[in-house]
Amino acid sequence: MTQQACRTTCPYCGVGCGVLATLGPAGVAIAGDPDHPANYGRLCSKGSALGETVDLAGRLLTPQIGGKEATWDDAVALTARKFAEVIARHGPDSVAFYVSGQLLTEDYYIANKLMKGFIGSANIDTNSRLCMASSVAGHNRAFGADTVPGTYEDLEQADLIVLVGSNLAWCHPVLYQRIVAAKAARPSMRVVNIDPRRTATSDLADVHLGIAPGADVALFNRLLAEIERQGAIDAAYVEGHVTGLAPAIRAARGDDICQTGLDPALIQRFCDLWIQTEKVVTVYSQGVNQSSSGSDKVNAIINCHLATGRIGRPGMGPFSVTGQPNAMGGREVGGLANMLAAHLELGNQTHRDAVRTFWNAPAMPQAAGLKAVDLFRACAEGQIKALWIMSTNPAVSMPAANAVRDAIAGCPFVAVSDILPDTDTARLGDVLFPATAWGEKSGTVTNSDRTISRQRAFLPVPGAAKPDWQIICDVAKAMGWGEAFGFISPAEIFREHAALSGIAGAMGRDFDIGAFAGMTDADYNALAPARWPVAANRQGGRFFAEGGYFTTDRRARMVAVTTQALAAPLTPERPLRLNTGRIRDQWHTMTRTGRAPRLNQHLAEPFVEIHPDDAISAGIAAAELVRVETGYGQMVARALVTERTQPGSVFIPIHWTSAFASDGRVDALIAPVTDPVSGQPELKGAAASISRYDPAWYGFAVGAKRPVVCALSGIGYWALAPSQTGWRLELAGDSVPASWEQAAKLLFGAGDHARTVCAVDPGAGHASVVVCERDRTLGVLYADRQPVAVARSHVIAKFATLSPNDLLAGRPSMYQPDPGALVCACMGVGAKTIVHAIAAQGLTSVEAIGEATTAGTSCGSCRPELHALLAAHPVKLAAE
Ligand code: SF4
Repeated sequence: MTQQACRTTCPYCGVGCGVLATLGPAGVAIAGDPDHPANYGRLCSKGSALGETVDLAGRLLTPQIGGKEATWDDAVALTARKFAEVIARHGPDSVAFYVSGQLLTEDYYIANKLMKGFIGSANIDTNSRLCMASSVAGHNRAFGADTVPGTYEDLEQADLIVLVGSNLAWCHPVLYQRIVAAKAARPSMRVVNIDPRRTATSDLADVHLGIAPGADVALFNRLLAEIERQGAIDAAYVEGHVTGLAPAIRAARGDDICQTGLDPALIQRFCDLWIQTEKVVTVYSQGVNQSSSGSDKVNAIINCHLATGRIGRPGMGPFSVTGQPNAMGGREVGGLANMLAAHLELGNQTHRDAVRTFWNAPAMPQAAGLKAVDLFRACAEGQIKALWIMSTNPAVSMPAANAVRDAIAGCPFVAVSDILPDTDTARLGDVLFPATAWGEKSGTVTNSDRTISRQRAFLPVPGAAKPDWQIICDVAKAMGWGEAFGFISPAEIFREHAALSGIAGAMGRDFDIGAFAGMTDADYNALAPARWPVAANRQGGRFFAEGGYFTTDRRARMVAVTTQALAAPLTPERPLRLNTGRIRDQWHTMTRTGRAPRLNQHLAEPFVEIHPDDAISAGIAAAELVRVETGYGQMVARALVTERTQPGSVFIPIHWTSAFASDGRVDALIAPVTDPVSGQPELKGAAASISRYDPAWYGFAVGAKRPVVCALSGIGYWALAPSQTGWRLELAGDSVPASWEQAAKLLFGAGDHARTVCAVDPGAGHASVVVCERDRTLGVLYADRQPVAVARSHVIAKFATLSPNDLLAGRPSMYQPDPGALVCACMGVGAKTIVHAIAAQGLTSVEAIGEATTAGTSCGSCRPELHALLAAHPVKLAAE
């Protein structure tokens, strides 16, 4: 029987879309919540596929100690005892928590309370450090608090949107869709995209500034200098509400614009457009933050808005969009090592006293704890002797990931809370706690525009899993702090969190949801999305239109900044700038999106974007394999030769782990260099070299079950992904198997009775083998000396129905059209289908493609690619 839809929130990016999840006989149906103010019914490809990620296959459902199932009592007691022993012997700073923007606010609040108020250390940091710590630092320096001034509505009300270091189309797709819709309704709206790469987002932009990596400060300094030169400073606003104008302008004038690598005329055009357009929003994300000078970049942007008073009014302001679903909630509870709860300051005695009194805390740290990179460095150096990692995978996602993996492995005691037992990090845990997953847990998250939304459970808790807040409370109780951690529900935690924020609000801080402190459980369950502050005297809205900053004199600070070089210099041995980032259909380390077949067809293996000039220099052809090396590590990925990447730069996505690929962990290549203010690592500026990886053979396989890659010897590269009909596998070998038939049987786990149908040409180096057992096809393997040229979408789609002989061909017959590489994940439409429809039906718009093929008619995440296909395949009119 179909149940009523549950109103909940997407667990992926910081847009924070409302989701309607309906449990029915066929699984979980997902739709966008039409009433949620973040998305008004829209979802992207990842959100739309949430229903495919909630099955229990591979889940961690019981606690484990040393790799063996254990009781909750034993796992909790061991963890409490280990932490207590280490603290007693070495002090509170010898233990640490590494938590996550995936945690709900209630989980985060409890973790922070335990570490900062009861253990007495500030050694709790979060993977949000990798995502937006530079924005936090920039906000604090400029505003005196970590305040996002604007709202999502500003993106629709602006006349100019400047997107800096932000591939919104892929990383915050629903915000991108909102801008697309606003621009369509009001074509006079302008969009500028500042990014070293041409991305899917650039296709929306009126102007793309392909800036040199790391040069954002130089560009915004030039803008500030031009604001002053053109007399565009808002003198009344600055006089009333801002300090630091003169030194900031002096620094801006002294900066060297040549570092941007941009045409001076293009820079002038950008400055003129910005200055002449009052309603301007400057949106920035990881391209700004993930830098050794990320805080300065943030302040260079904010300086321009402060100087012009374009902040806190409709359609105006600097706007940091966060990567994770609850990065903002983590900031609100003080989940970073240098923050206290409720946006209070760790270094402020009055603030510390207020929190200590409220918590009745026995021990409070006096100073900031270890930020993420330093935390794992301290692990490696033996200073951290007990570590608890919650809901994150630092063995993949931290810079110098191999060293981090070794540091975790070498830590005397490691507890891991997760939903899977076999992530690269969970494999290293002494104790594993089974946490509840999205769909099973209940609490709140805060999105990028300060809107607090409920995540609600609509699935039963499986096995012995528990919510994170409960696991932490259990350990805290076992450590002797039962009274402070006797919570019985997330609602009770939220009330305490709200009450503490009310105290902070009364002390003049920005984050205040004190009006929620008295809410009942029923109110909490029914809580509608609400943008903070939610206090007796203030509800939602924007900050700073009338000043009112959170500094001691209530004035904003302009910060004098100048461009800093990227930390890693290019050298003849490492001549390329390595940029990293996200792709459209994957999330973080693929622990959830890696389970959804349709999300694994768009880009199914690790790849490296290389400019054609660099590919030629390195002797690399499209689709060949490439070895990428830095001083920290090396990986192998597929060459994607494209002019979207600048000459001298390469781009690699962050998602692949050792669960999905042989050598896909790009963060193992990144130096652990951080911004000195924010502690955020420079994840987008490594110095790298590329070389052709020359295997003896390339392969592509489709199997009904997960292929057993380790059964084959001499495999130098592999990348696995689930497909609609089983599994797909890209692979390459360093030596040719003696028997392709035998290799294929091993790969597909075939029994003695299996038979093969094959076409092998040893001279040409081709082999195609279909393995069948009884009347079932177990798998098909294609091998070649070159990258295998089979119609992958066709083979995957028809795998279960084609005869072995038709499968051997690896491409459709003349009567079966090849759909081509997947473009629209929701509707399953491939590039060749779309290109054929454009030509055959004379299509000239994305909407027309949608009507003809259904592509782009669901979540819309593929619309930039539809635009690109239209541009690449223009319809020839009869008169032309
Ligand atoms: Fe989820 Fe996509 Fe919305 Fe982000 S934009 S919250 S990933 S549905």
